[in-house]
Amino acid sequence: MTPAPSLVDSHGRVLRDLRVSLTDRCNFRCLYCLPETEAAQNFYRGRWANLPESKPIAWQWQPRTNILSFEEIERVVRLAVGLGIQKIRLTGGEPLLRRNVEQLVARIAALPGIEDLALTTNGFLFPEKARALSAAGLRRVSFSLDSLDQANFQKITGRNGLDEVLTSIRLAQDLGMNPVKVNAVIIRGINDHELEALAGFAREQDLAMRFIEFMPLDSARAWLKELVVPGREILQRLQASHSLRPAPRRNPAETAQRWVFEDGRGELGLISPVSEPFCGHCNRLRLTADGKIRTCLFSVVEHDLRSRLRGGASDEDLADYLRSVVWQKEERHHIGEPDFVSPERSMSCIGG
Ligand code: SAM
Ligand code: SF4
Repeated sequence: MTPAPSLVDSHGRVLRDLRVSLTDRCNFRCLYCLPETEAAQNFYRGRWANLPESKPIAWQWQPRTNILSFEEIERVVRLAVGLGIQKIRLTGGEPLLRRNVEQLVARIAALPGIEDLALTTNGFLFPEKARALSAAGLRRVSFSLDSLDQANFQKITGRNGLDEVLTSIRLAQDLGMNPVKVNAVIIRGINDHELEALAGFAREQDLAMRFIEFMPLDSARAWLKELVVPGREILQRLQASHSLRPAPRRNPAETAQRWVFEDGRGELGLISPVSEPFCGHCNRLRLTADGKIRTCLFSVVEHDLRSRLRGGASDEDLADYLRSVVWQKEERHHIGEPDFVSPERSMSCIGG
Protein backbone atom coordinates (compact mmCIF):
# COMPACT_ATOMS: atom_id res chain seq x y z
CA MET A 1 0.00 0.00 0.00
CA THR A 2 1.26 3.51 -0.76
CA PRO A 3 1.41 6.00 2.08
CA ALA A 4 -1.28 8.75 2.04
CA PRO A 5 -0.42 12.44 1.34
CA SER A 6 -0.45 13.49 5.00
CA LEU A 7 1.34 11.86 7.93
CA VAL A 8 -0.64 8.66 8.33
CA ASP A 9 0.76 5.40 9.60
CA SER A 10 -0.07 1.87 8.52
CA HIS A 11 -2.37 1.48 11.55
CA GLY A 12 -4.53 4.41 10.47
CA ARG A 13 -3.26 6.98 12.97
CA VAL A 14 -2.89 10.55 11.70
CA LEU A 15 0.08 12.36 13.24
CA ARG A 16 -0.49 15.90 14.53
CA ASP A 17 2.17 16.38 17.18
CA LEU A 18 5.91 16.90 16.57
CA ARG A 19 8.39 17.01 19.46
CA VAL A 20 11.61 18.72 18.55
CA SER A 21 14.67 18.16 20.69
CA LEU A 22 17.05 21.13 20.64
CA THR A 23 19.96 19.48 22.43
CA ASP A 24 20.84 16.18 24.08
CA ARG A 25 22.75 18.02 26.81
CA CYS A 26 21.40 18.88 30.23
CA ASN A 27 22.30 20.87 33.33
CA PHE A 28 20.44 18.37 35.57
CA ARG A 29 21.08 14.69 36.23
CA CYS A 30 17.63 13.33 37.05
CA LEU A 31 17.76 9.85 38.46
CA TYR A 32 15.09 8.62 36.03
CA CYS A 33 16.89 10.08 33.00
CA LEU A 34 20.64 10.58 33.50
CA PRO A 35 21.32 8.79 36.81
CA GLU A 36 24.99 9.65 37.11
CA THR A 37 25.04 11.26 40.55
CA GLU A 38 26.13 9.39 43.64
CA ALA A 39 22.64 9.80 45.12
CA ALA A 40 21.09 8.20 42.04
CA GLN A 41 23.58 5.37 42.03
CA ASN A 42 23.05 4.75 45.75
CA PHE A 43 19.32 4.55 45.17
CA TYR A 44 19.67 1.97 42.41
CA ARG A 45 22.62 0.05 43.84
CA GLY A 46 20.61 -2.21 46.14
CA ARG A 47 18.06 -2.80 43.43
CA TRP A 48 20.58 -3.50 40.70
CA ALA A 49 21.64 -6.55 42.67
CA ASN A 50 18.30 -8.06 41.66
CA LEU A 51 18.96 -7.58 37.98
CA PRO A 52 20.53 -10.45 36.07
CA GLU A 53 22.62 -8.01 34.09
CA SER A 54 22.80 -4.25 34.16
CA LYS A 55 23.89 -2.73 30.89
CA PRO A 56 24.21 1.03 31.03
CA ILE A 57 23.69 2.67 27.68
CA ALA A 58 27.04 3.63 26.19
CA TRP A 59 26.43 7.24 25.23
CA GLN A 60 28.21 10.48 24.78
CA TRP A 61 27.03 13.96 23.88
CA GLN A 62 26.60 14.54 20.19
CA PRO A 63 29.35 16.64 18.60
CA ARG A 64 28.05 20.11 17.78
CA THR A 65 28.34 19.54 14.04
CA ASN A 66 25.70 16.80 14.32
CA ILE A 67 23.18 19.11 15.96
CA LEU A 68 20.61 20.61 13.59
CA SER A 69 20.85 24.35 13.04
CA PHE A 70 17.84 26.64 13.56
CA GLU A 71 17.46 26.86 9.76
CA GLU A 72 17.33 23.07 9.50
CA ILE A 73 14.84 22.75 12.35
CA GLU A 74 12.63 25.48 10.90
CA ARG A 75 12.64 23.74 7.53
CA VAL A 76 11.58 20.39 9.03
CA VAL A 77 8.86 22.06 11.11
CA ARG A 78 7.55 23.95 8.07
CA LEU A 79 7.40 20.74 6.04
CA ALA A 80 5.78 18.81 8.88
CA VAL A 81 3.13 21.50 9.30
CA GLY A 82 2.46 21.25 5.58
CA LEU A 83 1.84 17.55 6.18
CA GLY A 84 -0.75 18.13 8.90
CA ILE A 85 1.30 18.61 12.08
CA GLN A 86 -0.50 21.12 14.33
CA LYS A 87 1.39 20.96 17.63
CA ILE A 88 5.07 21.63 18.15
CA ARG A 89 6.82 21.04 21.47
CA LEU A 90 10.44 22.10 21.94
CA THR A 91 12.30 19.86 24.34
CA GLY A 92 15.63 18.15 24.99
CA GLY A 93 17.90 17.48 26.98
CA GLU A 94 17.43 20.92 28.38
CA PRO A 95 16.18 23.15 25.56
CA LEU A 96 17.11 26.39 27.36
CA LEU A 97 20.78 25.42 27.09
CA ARG A 98 20.50 26.12 23.38
CA ARG A 99 21.94 29.58 22.76
CA ASN A 100 19.42 32.12 21.39
CA VAL A 101 16.58 29.63 21.72
CA GLU A 102 14.15 32.57 21.57
CA GLN A 103 15.20 33.17 17.96
CA LEU A 104 14.06 29.67 17.03
CA VAL A 105 10.81 30.19 18.94
CA ALA A 106 10.16 33.38 16.95
CA ARG A 107 10.83 31.62 13.64
CA ILE A 108 8.53 28.72 14.47
CA ALA A 109 5.81 30.94 15.95
CA ALA A 110 5.73 32.86 12.66
CA LEU A 111 5.00 29.74 10.57
CA PRO A 112 1.39 29.59 9.44
CA GLY A 113 -0.61 26.50 10.42
CA ILE A 114 0.78 25.88 13.91
CA GLU A 115 -2.02 25.70 16.45
CA ASP A 116 0.10 25.11 19.49
CA LEU A 117 3.75 25.88 20.28
CA ALA A 118 5.03 24.74 23.67
CA LEU A 119 8.29 24.15 25.51
CA THR A 120 9.28 21.57 28.14
CA THR A 121 12.04 22.63 30.52
CA ASN A 122 13.50 21.81 33.90
CA GLY A 123 13.02 25.53 34.62
CA PHE A 124 16.48 26.30 35.99
CA LEU A 125 17.39 28.81 33.27
CA PHE A 126 13.85 30.00 32.64
CA PRO A 127 14.03 33.25 34.67
CA GLU A 128 16.79 34.64 32.43
CA LYS A 129 15.00 33.61 29.22
CA ALA A 130 11.32 34.01 30.10
CA ARG A 131 10.65 37.50 28.77
CA ALA A 132 12.50 36.91 25.51
CA LEU A 133 10.63 33.62 25.01
CA SER A 134 7.29 35.28 25.68
CA ALA A 135 8.10 38.16 23.31
CA ALA A 136 9.11 35.59 20.68
CA GLY A 137 5.63 34.05 20.82
CA LEU A 138 5.89 31.21 23.32
CA ARG A 139 2.48 30.79 24.94
CA ARG A 140 2.78 27.46 26.74
CA VAL A 141 5.41 25.93 28.95
CA SER A 142 5.72 22.71 30.97
CA PHE A 143 8.12 22.47 33.90
CA SER A 144 9.50 19.37 35.53
CA LEU A 145 9.08 19.38 39.30
CA ASP A 146 9.29 16.04 41.10
CA SER A 147 9.63 17.26 44.67
CA LEU A 148 8.76 20.22 46.88
CA ASP A 149 11.44 19.31 49.38
CA GLN A 150 14.89 20.91 48.88
CA ALA A 151 16.88 17.80 49.79
CA ASN A 152 14.71 15.42 47.79
CA PHE A 153 14.72 17.78 44.81
CA GLN A 154 18.51 17.71 44.88
CA LYS A 155 18.59 13.93 45.27
CA ILE A 156 16.32 13.50 42.24
CA THR A 157 17.81 16.11 39.92
CA GLY A 158 21.40 16.32 41.12
CA ARG A 159 20.99 20.10 41.45
CA ASN A 160 20.08 22.42 44.30
CA GLY A 161 17.50 24.22 42.19
CA LEU A 162 14.07 24.00 43.79
CA ASP A 163 13.80 27.76 44.42
CA GLU A 164 14.72 28.57 40.82
CA VAL A 165 12.05 26.21 39.49
CA LEU A 166 9.39 27.61 41.82
CA THR A 167 10.34 31.13 40.73
CA SER A 168 10.10 30.02 37.09
CA ILE A 169 6.61 28.62 37.55
CA ARG A 170 5.37 31.89 39.09
CA LEU A 171 7.06 33.88 36.35
CA ALA A 172 5.43 31.83 33.59
CA GLN A 173 2.05 32.44 35.24
CA ASP A 174 2.74 36.18 35.51
CA LEU A 175 3.64 36.21 31.82
CA GLY A 176 0.25 34.67 31.04
CA MET A 177 1.50 31.26 29.88
CA ASN A 178 -1.55 29.68 31.51
CA PRO A 179 -2.40 27.04 32.38
CA VAL A 180 1.21 26.33 33.32
CA LYS A 181 1.86 22.59 33.26
CA VAL A 182 4.07 20.82 35.76
CA ASN A 183 5.36 17.27 35.19
CA ALA A 184 6.29 14.98 38.06
CA VAL A 185 7.72 11.51 37.43
CA ILE A 186 6.64 9.45 40.41
CA ILE A 187 9.04 6.73 41.56
CA ARG A 188 8.32 4.34 44.39
CA GLY A 189 10.63 4.98 47.30
CA ILE A 190 11.77 8.34 45.93
CA ASN A 191 8.91 10.80 45.78
CA ASP A 192 5.68 8.82 46.07
CA HIS A 193 5.32 10.17 49.62
CA GLU A 194 5.03 13.67 48.10
CA LEU A 195 2.01 12.93 45.90
CA GLU A 196 -0.53 14.65 48.12
CA ALA A 197 1.73 17.67 48.63
CA LEU A 198 2.30 18.02 44.88
CA ALA A 199 -1.45 17.80 44.25
CA GLY A 200 -2.06 20.43 46.95
CA PHE A 201 0.55 22.64 45.30
CA ALA A 202 -1.30 22.36 41.96
CA ARG A 203 -4.52 23.48 43.62
CA GLU A 204 -2.98 26.33 45.61
CA GLN A 205 -1.07 27.65 42.62
CA ASP A 206 -3.80 26.90 40.05
CA LEU A 207 -1.52 24.68 37.93
CA ALA A 208 -2.02 21.69 35.66
CA MET A 209 -0.01 18.98 37.40
CA ARG A 210 0.85 15.80 35.50
CA PHE A 211 1.89 12.64 37.32
CA ILE A 212 3.92 10.49 34.94
CA GLU A 213 4.82 6.83 35.31
CA PHE A 214 8.54 6.03 35.29
CA MET A 215 9.46 4.58 31.88
CA PRO A 216 12.49 2.46 30.95
CA LEU A 217 14.35 5.31 29.30
CA ASP A 218 17.10 6.08 31.81
CA SER A 219 20.71 6.01 30.64
CA ALA A 220 21.73 3.43 33.27
CA ARG A 221 18.99 0.99 32.28
CA ALA A 222 18.20 0.77 35.96
CA TRP A 223 14.41 0.93 35.47
CA LEU A 224 12.48 -1.76 37.32
CA LYS A 225 8.76 -2.37 37.16
CA GLU A 226 8.63 -2.33 40.97
CA LEU A 227 9.65 1.33 40.90
CA VAL A 228 6.63 2.34 38.80
CA VAL A 229 3.68 3.73 40.75
CA PRO A 230 0.69 2.87 38.52
CA GLY A 231 -1.62 5.74 37.61
CA ARG A 232 -4.56 3.91 39.19
CA GLU A 233 -2.77 3.77 42.55
CA ILE A 234 -1.87 7.46 42.29
CA LEU A 235 -5.51 8.32 41.58
CA GLN A 236 -6.79 6.31 44.54
CA ARG A 237 -4.43 8.15 46.85
CA LEU A 238 -5.35 11.54 45.44
CA GLN A 239 -9.06 10.81 45.68
CA ALA A 240 -8.57 9.97 49.34
CA SER A 241 -6.93 13.32 50.02
CA HIS A 242 -8.73 15.71 47.64
CA SER A 243 -12.24 16.18 46.21
CA LEU A 244 -11.82 15.57 42.51
CA ARG A 245 -14.06 15.18 39.51
CA PRO A 246 -13.10 13.89 36.06
CA ALA A 247 -12.51 16.44 33.33
CA PRO A 248 -13.87 15.62 29.87
CA ARG A 249 -11.36 14.33 27.31
CA ARG A 250 -10.47 17.08 24.83
CA ASN A 251 -9.33 14.75 22.08
CA PRO A 252 -8.66 11.02 21.74
CA ALA A 253 -4.88 11.53 21.47
CA GLU A 254 -4.72 13.23 24.88
CA THR A 255 -2.26 11.24 27.01
CA ALA A 256 -3.44 12.46 30.42
CA GLN A 257 -6.58 11.37 32.23
CA ARG A 258 -7.49 14.71 33.71
CA TRP A 259 -9.18 15.52 37.01
CA VAL A 260 -10.18 18.89 38.43
CA PHE A 261 -10.59 19.98 42.03
CA GLU A 262 -14.15 20.55 43.19
CA ASP A 263 -13.41 24.22 43.89
CA GLY A 264 -12.25 24.70 40.29
CA ARG A 265 -8.65 25.74 40.95
CA GLY A 266 -5.92 23.59 39.44
CA GLU A 267 -5.99 20.33 37.56
CA LEU A 268 -4.38 16.92 37.92
CA GLY A 269 -3.50 14.56 35.08
CA LEU A 270 -2.36 10.95 35.15
CA ILE A 271 -0.06 9.81 32.37
CA SER A 272 0.22 6.05 32.57
CA PRO A 273 2.16 4.77 29.55
CA VAL A 274 3.37 1.67 31.42
CA SER A 275 0.23 0.44 33.17
CA GLU A 276 -2.36 1.76 30.69
CA PRO A 277 -0.66 2.30 27.31
CA PHE A 278 -2.30 4.79 24.95
CA CYS A 279 -0.43 3.69 21.81
CA GLY A 280 -3.67 3.13 19.87
CA HIS A 281 -4.29 6.88 19.83
CA CYS A 282 -0.68 8.08 19.68
CA ASN A 283 -0.30 10.93 17.18
CA ARG A 284 3.32 11.90 17.96
CA LEU A 285 6.51 12.07 16.01
CA ARG A 286 9.95 13.05 17.31
CA LEU A 287 12.91 14.87 15.80
CA THR A 288 16.11 14.36 17.79
CA ALA A 289 18.67 17.12 18.21
CA ASP A 290 20.97 15.29 15.77
CA GLY A 291 18.31 15.09 13.10
CA LYS A 292 16.90 11.58 13.48
CA ILE A 293 13.20 10.90 13.20
CA ARG A 294 11.72 8.61 15.85
CA THR A 295 8.22 7.28 15.42
CA CYS A 296 7.94 6.09 19.03
CA LEU A 297 9.68 6.85 22.34
CA PHE A 298 10.59 3.17 22.35
CA SER A 299 11.67 2.86 18.71
CA VAL A 300 14.72 0.69 18.24
CA VAL A 301 15.35 2.22 14.82
CA GLU A 302 15.89 5.88 14.00
CA HIS A 303 15.47 7.45 10.58
CA ASP A 304 18.25 9.68 9.33
CA LEU A 305 16.75 12.96 8.18
CA ARG A 306 19.95 14.96 8.76
CA SER A 307 21.91 13.34 5.95
CA ARG A 308 19.03 14.16 3.60
CA LEU A 309 18.73 17.73 4.87
CA ARG A 310 22.44 18.24 4.32
CA GLY A 311 22.65 16.16 1.16
CA GLY A 312 20.64 18.47 -1.07
CA ALA A 313 17.20 16.83 -0.78
CA SER A 314 14.35 18.98 -2.11
CA ASP A 315 11.33 19.84 0.06
CA GLU A 316 9.37 17.27 -1.92
CA ASP A 317 12.00 14.56 -1.27
CA LEU A 318 11.96 15.35 2.45
CA ALA A 319 8.16 15.32 2.61
CA ASP A 320 8.10 11.94 0.83
CA TYR A 321 10.70 10.64 3.26
CA LEU A 322 8.69 11.84 6.28
CA ARG A 323 5.56 10.17 4.93
CA SER A 324 7.35 6.88 4.32
CA VAL A 325 8.91 6.92 7.79
CA VAL A 326 5.62 7.71 9.51
CA TRP A 327 3.99 4.84 7.64
CA GLN A 328 6.34 2.54 9.59
CA LYS A 329 5.30 3.83 13.04
CA GLU A 330 5.24 1.00 15.56
CA GLU A 331 1.81 -0.26 16.54
CA ARG A 332 2.63 -0.12 20.26
CA HIS A 333 5.42 -0.39 22.81
CA HIS A 334 6.21 -3.69 24.51
CA ILE A 335 7.22 -2.53 28.00
CA GLY A 336 7.03 -5.35 30.50
CA GLU A 337 6.79 -8.05 27.83
CA PRO A 338 9.52 -10.66 27.29
CA ASP A 339 10.34 -9.24 23.84
CA PHE A 340 10.84 -5.66 25.13
CA VAL A 341 14.11 -4.10 24.00
CA SER A 342 15.19 -0.76 25.51
CA PRO A 343 15.93 1.97 23.01
CA GLU A 344 19.63 2.59 22.45
CA ARG A 345 19.40 6.16 23.66
CA SER A 346 18.08 7.64 26.89
CA MET A 347 15.24 10.13 27.28
CA SER A 348 17.58 13.15 27.29
CA CYS A 349 18.94 12.11 23.87
CA ILE A 350 15.56 11.17 22.42
CA GLY A 351 13.70 14.28 23.57
CA GLY A 352 10.92 13.81 26.10
N1 SAM B 1 14.92 18.82 30.45
C1 SAM B 1 13.54 19.12 30.25
C2 SAM B 1 12.70 18.69 31.43
O1 SAM B 1 13.19 17.92 32.25
O2 SAM B 1 11.55 19.11 31.51
C3 SAM B 1 12.96 18.55 28.98
C4 SAM B 1 13.39 17.18 28.59
S1 SAM B 1 12.85 15.88 29.67
C5 SAM B 1 13.55 14.48 28.91
C6 SAM B 1 11.11 15.82 29.28
C7 SAM B 1 10.25 15.09 30.26
O3 SAM B 1 10.61 13.73 30.27
C8 SAM B 1 10.37 15.58 31.69
O4 SAM B 1 9.09 15.95 32.17
C9 SAM B 1 10.90 14.40 32.43
O5 SAM B 1 10.40 14.35 33.73
C10 SAM B 1 10.43 13.24 31.58
N2 SAM B 1 11.23 12.03 31.74
C11 SAM B 1 12.57 11.89 31.62
N3 SAM B 1 12.95 10.61 31.83
C12 SAM B 1 11.82 9.92 32.08
C13 SAM B 1 11.54 8.55 32.38
N4 SAM B 1 12.51 7.64 32.46
N5 SAM B 1 10.24 8.18 32.58
C14 SAM B 1 9.25 9.11 32.51
N6 SAM B 1 9.44 10.41 32.22
C15 SAM B 1 10.72 10.81 32.03
FE1 SF4 C 1 17.72 16.82 32.11
FE2 SF4 C 1 15.11 16.78 31.69
FE3 SF4 C 1 16.57 14.49 31.70
FE4 SF4 C 1 16.18 15.81 33.97
S1 SF4 C 1 14.58 14.86 32.70
S2 SF4 C 1 18.15 14.98 33.24
S3 SF4 C 1 16.18 17.90 33.34
S4 SF4 C 1 16.69 16.10 30.24
